[in-house]
Amino acid sequence: MKVYNTLTRTKEEFRPIDSETVTVYSCGPTVYSYAHIGNMRTYVFMDILRRVLKLNGYKLRHVMNITDVGHLTSDADEGEDKMEKAAKSQSKTPWEIAEYYTGVFFSDLKRLNIETPEITPKATDHIEEMIEFVKGLCDKGYGYETSDGIYYDISRFKRYGRLSRMNLEDQIAGASERVDVNNEKRHPADFALWKKAPKEHIMQWPSPWGMGYPGWHIECSAMSRKYLGDRFDIHTGGVDHIPIHHENEIAQSEALTGHKTVNYWMHGEFLLVDNGKMSKSLGNTYTISDLAEKGYSPLAYRYFCLNGNYRNKLNFTWDAMDAAQVSLDRLYETLGKHKAEDDSLPEGLADEWKKEFTDAVSDDLNVPLGLGILWKALRYPQKSREIYEFALFTDEVLGLSMEENAGKDNKNNECGGSDVPPEVYDLIEERTNAKKNKDYKTADEIRDKLKAMGITLIDTKEGVKIVREQNVRK
Ligand code: AMP
Ligand code: ZN
Repeated sequence: MKVYNTLTRTKEEFRPIDSETVTVYSCGPTVYSYAHIGNMRTYVFMDILRRVLKLNGYKLRHVMNITDVGHLTSDADEGEDKMEKAAKSQSKTPWEIAEYYTGVFFSDLKRLNIETPEITPKATDHIEEMIEFVKGLCDKGYGYETSDGIYYDISRFKRYGRLSRMNLEDQIAGASERVDVNNEKRHPADFALWKKAPKEHIMQWPSPWGMGYPGWHIECSAMSRKYLGDRFDIHTGGVDHIPIHHENEIAQSEALTGHKTVNYWMHGEFLLVDNGKMSKSLGNTYTISDLAEKGYSPLAYRYFCLNGNYRNKLNFTWDAMDAAQVSLDRLYETLGKHKAEDDSLPEGLADEWKKEFTDAVSDDLNVPLGLGILWKALRYPQKSREIYEFALFTDEVLGLSMEENAGKDNKNNECGGSDVPPEVYDLIEERTNAKKNKDYKTADEIRDKLKAMGITLIDTKEGVKIVREQNVRK
């Protein structure tokens, strides 16, 4: 198995510390609001990694933290505490806020067939471990106290910036540009290990430095150490974590232990919406529930994610979501046909496909290639139960609930179902491609052709809705 290591910027042969059980840490959600589809893309990537490791015969010890405390609105220790802000605006306690959004997050994982990691520790249950960690860093001369907290002195850590390949000068420049520079810090890019709490701060704990709360980065260093030890195999997160959060985690963990703690750093690229950033002000921070309300099945969103390599940006549009739903419905429908057929395939063909699929996904999680191999098998000129069984083999990684849905109509999408002629799916795909290539004439012709077949495509503010004529929605 090969994985791309952000630390070395190369694809490397994966060699675990223990030949049986792979140790993985994934940065989990900050539970002060709903996770959006961008966040969920990163967890789909984490899930694919788990499943590919298992396909390669490994067991897993996988930790994903739940950040239920002290994550400020800026990565750099400034601004408001997001948990407290949400609590105030909803007239709840931060604990109630965390509990509610944690529940929704786990239910979203389930809807997307994302396996829950073996260990999912909450930050608030590990304050003691974090305090011990900070004390250790202070004892070694990496932590120092100011009037508002304990800070990490990055000039003491010579390897600072190695993951993001940013030198110290860049870090200083970046930190100096931010408004709230704390002038007691020795260095503008020093970061908080522990914050002293003003009276009105709701979440606070006793510590050797008085009442306070932990910095965000210390959480992951303390919990990964507790559950995975001083050396573990893989650390995952989104690419936005590379320059600050993960750089800081490395600085903390390596300073305390005196050695490298993580062998492979893997990062998922961002999801864009209409080629731009998601933001509350644009109203495009969609959630899985938003998609479901519009009639898409959550697994169609998973399918959409699987179409892109985790290391490339992926652009979400309603057209692309329509295409993913159509493809998933067609997949289920085709599976049903193969399942019903006893014919056997030429000797060894299914094994050959299995090997091709395993090689593809084991090559730094090349799932789009794996999906291509699945479709090649499904389109084989002969129908056969062996093809259905091969598909179930791929589903161990793809996680699309193929067994449960083979041959079923997808109730979430009026366009699905076995009574829809297969050429409809081809036409919809062709239209999506034509629009992508700005060939609007062809796109319109296809729309008319579909209309004549009883399939209406409705352009809405959010994009195109595909509906059967008798089911047209308002
Ligand atoms: P947060 O709860 O903000 O810490 O984010 C949870 C995870 O989602 C982190 O691993 C982020 O890197 C990741 N993430 C945030 N925004 C996006 C996005 N637009 N696309 C993909 N991943 C994202
Ligand atoms: Zn983290």
